[in-house]
Amino acid sequence: MTTRHTEIASSLRAVRARIERACLDADRSPDEVTLIVVTKYFPVRDVVVLINEGVRDFGENRDQEARSKFQEVRALGHDIRVHFIGQVQTNKAASVTAYADLIHSVDRHRLIPALAKGADRAGRTVDCLIQVDLDRRSVSDDRGRRGGALPGEVLPLADAIAECSPLRVRGVMTVAPLDEDRDSAFGRLADIAGGLRSAYPDATWISAGMSDDLDAAIRQGATHLRVGTAILGSRPPLR
Ligand SMILES: *Cc1c(COP(=O)(O)O)cnc(C)c1O
Repeated sequence: MTTRHTEIASSLRAVRARIERACLDADRSPDEVTLIVVTKYFPVRDVVVLINEGVRDFGENRDQEARSKFQEVRALGHDIRVHFIGQVQTNKAASVTAYADLIHSVDRHRLIPALAKGADRAGRTVDCLIQVDLDRRSVSDDRGRRGGALPGEVLPLADAIAECSPLRVRGVMTVAPLDEDRDSAFGRLADIAGGLRSAYPDATWISAGMSDDLDAAIRQGATHLRVGTAILGSRPPLR
């Protein structure tokens, strides 16, 4: 094993132990929680190491990088699930639906027909989560630079997704606000998820929790964790 392999395997083991611990404390089964390893900025060889360590779910936030990286990984014959977790530009929607199995960041109406068209053309069904911006309290509030719909927009967006057959509405996603207690923020997301689930019983997924706050996310019912730094180390500064 290379040094890098040893390093990744060891931090992956630590994160898995943290997840198990948090599940135990929250009286939940670890089987309810999917660990998505966020590989943005990291090379295909790291993805292959992770696959050898039993990881199957990968997340990326930029179309170009994701497309070429996972094309290469799949060409090696690996069966993986790709999660698109970044903001989707409308003109990139078709590209993203060609390789992503789950899009975590549906946050506006204009995107939905574009995603549906792309999924149709690719002959695939694409699962969608609605990204919720817990920072912004109203339409005129422009704090939400990370993308995301207002809580009140979640149901109308779900209705629009449900009308497009190649798309499926599966739940919600958020990035926790920096200035709010994590349990409080993820608790609000859980309430929004509950409202969505009463209208769409299949929308059971909650994507929340990153390297720093996955424990709180598990306490508040997260089903999908998006973890980068804690497994792969720090990323180079934003280009
Ligand atoms: C990069 C990223 C993550 C991973 O964050 P870490 O702090 O490195 O675990 C999770 N979610 C989104 C949307 C991201 O862009």
